[in-house]
Amino acid sequence: MSDDLFKKLVSHCKEYGFIFQSSEVYDGLAAVYDYGPYGSELKNNIKKYWWMSMVQMHENIVGIDSAIFMHPKTWKASGHVDAFNDPMIDNKDSNKRYRADQLVEEYVERKVMKKADKEIEKARKRFGDAFNEEEYKTTNPRVMGYLEKSKTILTRLNTSLTNEDLEDVKNLIEELEIACPESGSRNWTDVRQFNLMFNTQLGTIAGEAGKLYLRPETAQGIFVNFLNVQKTTRQKIPFGIAQIGKAFRNEIVARQFIFRMREFEQMEMQFFVKPGEQQKWYEYWKEARLKWHTAIHPTESLKFHDHEKLAHYADAAADIEFKFPFGFRELEGIHSRTDFDLSAHQDLSGRKLQYFDPEINENYVPYVVETSIGLDRMFLATMGNALQEETVPDADGKDSTRTVLKVHPALAPIKCAVLPLLKNKEELTGKAREIFNSLKSSFNCQYDEKDAIGRRYRRQDAIGTPFCITIDFESLEDNMVTIRERDSLKQERIAISDIEKVVSERVDMKLLFA
Ligand code: ATP
Repeated sequence: MSDDLFKKLVSHCKEYGFIFQSSEVYDGLAAVYDYGPYGSELKNNIKKYWWMSMVQMHENIVGIDSAIFMHPKTWKASGHVDAFNDPMIDNKDSNKRYRADQLVEEYVERKVMKKADKEIEKARKRFGDAFNEEEYKTTNPRVMGYLEKSKTILTRLNTSLTNEDLEDVKNLIEELEIACPESGSRNWTDVRQFNLMFNTQLGTIAGEAGKLYLRPETAQGIFVNFLNVQKTTRQKIPFGIAQIGKAFRNEIVARQFIFRMREFEQMEMQFFVKPGEQQKWYEYWKEARLKWHTAIHPTESLKFHDHEKLAHYADAAADIEFKFPFGFRELEGIHSRTDFDLSAHQDLSGRKLQYFDPEINENYVPYVVETSIGLDRMFLATMGNALQEETVPDADGKDSTRTVLKVHPALAPIKCAVLPLLKNKEELTGKAREIFNSLKSSFNCQYDEKDAIGRRYRRQDAIGTPFCITIDFESLEDNMVTIRERDSLKQERIAISDIEKVVSERVDMKLLFA
């Protein structure tokens, strides 16, 4: 999907009631969004698909719903108070704040790699089929120079960040003569660490002691409840705890629509395993999660990215990346988190967070493999993948373009639209209403009688409705209706008494597990 299509996607989301800017009447709040009627249906269906695959389909995974506020010590133990930081820098002329690492990365992308890509594209055209990109990259002096430059800059950035040498990050920005995109000036402050947690104050306790955080991840609610859940559900290791809920991060630069938000939703699962068995389960969950994605997304739009630089708590980590319009980016993380979190909570709280393993008659702190996906990012991936423009024959057989959301029927916000052929014919609308009423308790339906039938079809295409039912004069005679399928545009006559069964079968979540 190109930049242009991405813009279309954003406006489609607004125009058709999927996503609105938060507090739009006040000109909006940056990086905060509201889901509209169709957006919240789609979002709920994605949640349901995840919950089914994790909780319902696994005897040894149970779900919880923990609070957003947690005891502040939680975030001390987890490392978020001390280390959940991004390096920031301000431009003194525009007063705009940037992530220092991103300024450098963008420089590399725009000023260095783009030149290399241009050379490569020129050569591809020149050499045609005989072009070997890999060979060209390792032999053409100009391209080699660009690649080398990019590597040198990024290695220096990573080393400085790892060593917390923020002075060198600033030096790098100055040496590369990076200017503020807004003011064009190079008048920068020093680089400082910026903690991404939002905080608020408990009403009854003044000062530091009453400081509360809005959780930046849902995982910690699972860790601190580990024994409560294990004991009450009598789970044996290996077992998992799943949760869907809001998380908050004060992102310095939040862009790209719902890709990076300040308030977002996560779907996380912590899988508790015997120490030493984490590698096996890490591999298991990588595969299982990829399969979950490939049931709705084309394989070529997904890939793994193994982390070389690991977080302080991890012994292995990979992202599942999705091909967003702006390139392959993280959609989900699979992390082998060792016993870091449980041990840290055990140490700071003084309470044992250990599992008694009846098989070996021993207590231990389990290891954890987690899967963590952003619901909003999944929403963006799903919409991006599904939204298409295509040329189809219209009623008179002429070509016309339609915008269609080819979302999997099981995820579609509305499953079936019920359309009387004409608006002013009581016999037709009465019959259509009757059908609508008989279907509405089975799945999400919409009754629509306004405008010509072709326009109504287009409206349903745009919100991804997989089936449209049309009631015409013949229906009154033979109790048959026309069912139109969104993607193939195939139209069939079926009995009114069969509609419920036909649609239910084709929108069933089960299809995603086939
Ligand atoms: P990124 O590198 O993109 O900032 P992260 O590595 O910090 O992401 P995790 O802490 O692993 O992300 O969070 C798990 C998942 O939560 C991510 O894979 C992503 O889908 C989602 N996520 C994280 N931050 C945001 C955000 N600001 N807005 C929307 N989704 C987010």
